[in-house]
Amino acid sequence: MSGRWHLVAAALLFPALAVAVVSVVARLPLGSETVHFLVYLPWVGLALAAGLALLFGRYGALLLTLLLLSLYLLAGLAMTGAEAAAIRELLALALGSSLLVLAIRPEPWPPALVVFLLAALNGAGAWLLAGGRWPDVRVALVEPLIPAGVALPVSAPAALVLLAGVSAYLVRALVGRTAVSIGILAGTSAVIAALHRATDPMTAEVAWTIAGLAIGIGVILEGHRMAYRDELTGLPGRRALMERLTRPGRRYSVAMVDVDHFKSFNDTYGHEAGDQVLRYVATRLARGARGVRVFRYGGEEFALLFPGASLDRAWPLADELRAVIADSPFTLRTSRRDPSRRGSGGGQEVGVTVSLGVAQRRRGERPTDVLERADAALYRAKAQGRDRVVADPDGG
Ligand code: GH3
Ligand code: MG
Ligand code: MG
Repeated sequence: MSGRWHLVAAALLFPALAVAVVSVVARLPLGSETVHFLVYLPWVGLALAAGLALLFGRYGALLLTLLLLSLYLLAGLAMTGAEAAAIRELLALALGSSLLVLAIRPEPWPPALVVFLLAALNGAGAWLLAGGRWPDVRVALVEPLIPAGVALPVSAPAALVLLAGVSAYLVRALVGRTAVSIGILAGTSAVIAALHRATDPMTAEVAWTIAGLAIGIGVILEGHRMAYRDELTGLPGRRALMERLTRPGRRYSVAMVDVDHFKSFNDTYGHEAGDQVLRYVATRLARGARGVRVFRYGGEEFALLFPGASLDRAWPLADELRAVIADSPFTLRTSRRDPSRRGSGGGQEVGVTVSLGVAQRRRGERPTDVLERADAALYRAKAQGRDRVVADPDGG
């Protein structure tokens, strides 16, 4: 399983990194100079972020991290104030334009394009540092856009490219709300904030370290969400349920929930209408009762977990949820994705019901066995006519 492969990689990567950090720190001349070990932190943070992005296949985040690594290296190589200013200019243009492109097309990024962009960036940086002159891109049209009295750390065109990139990416992050996009936004914000204080000691080091950490954490959280959340309903998936049920020594009850006559519903109104029903049922279940955890078990089946609850307490809660779904009206929206079905069922009110089977965990019983008994009870609920809750009496 790919999840295991991540763990193997993490098990190798993190200890090696820990050892590397410790041995580097141990070699540092300690004392009043201790603070200078900070200059190594951005490398560690960004390398970690790059490794994680590669591991999780987040090529947009990988591109940005490698870009930041290159820019940090170039900024460190700048000797004079003029060189530092030229690299700041390059940073604003490179960061702004890549954020703009990432906002339009977050993933996937062709590796060849990533390599090309990095080579171009580093070529431009090396050329600037070797005494090349940055072409004068100050356009008469652009200068008036900057309010008088605003002191920019970069030229007006570069600042506008950066502003456009950050704004576009902010929209992308707010719409998509993925952990990776938020991490990228936080990381680049730290770096941009440091542009203004380029001469303050250690500001850059701290900012670039934060960039690495923010992107790395974003990649990890996104990987976690993808592994445990169901895409269609946003509910935690089967893996999340199984993980929760293996926590030891707890009393709980579970219910299996199955949408009634779902297949004929799919056949009549189309698959997208079926998806709407699944999202609707998921929302109803999740909002319906307190103290109940809802999971999408798979297909048109959901699982409910009642932590600490006996069958006597779980059954009424399960029946409450059943009633909420049976009693509330559900209106189909017109299909957008499937034009052949447009109008079929759109705006129409349809009845949705679910059947449930509930079981309480016996002492020492394995999670799969409890779920199996709940499933058997669900089967009986179907046989008895659907839209009902049947308890497996064999619990306690
Ligand atoms: P019953 O009342 O006995 O449960 O009848 P049913 O038709 O709901 O049961 P059955 O198991 O025969 O049909 C389940 C159907 O659910 C089959 C499959 O096409 C559909 N299905 C499974 N997953 C999804 C999904 O993610 N989206 C949609 N639209 N349909 C799905
Ligand atoms: Mg089913
Ligand atoms: Mg069904």
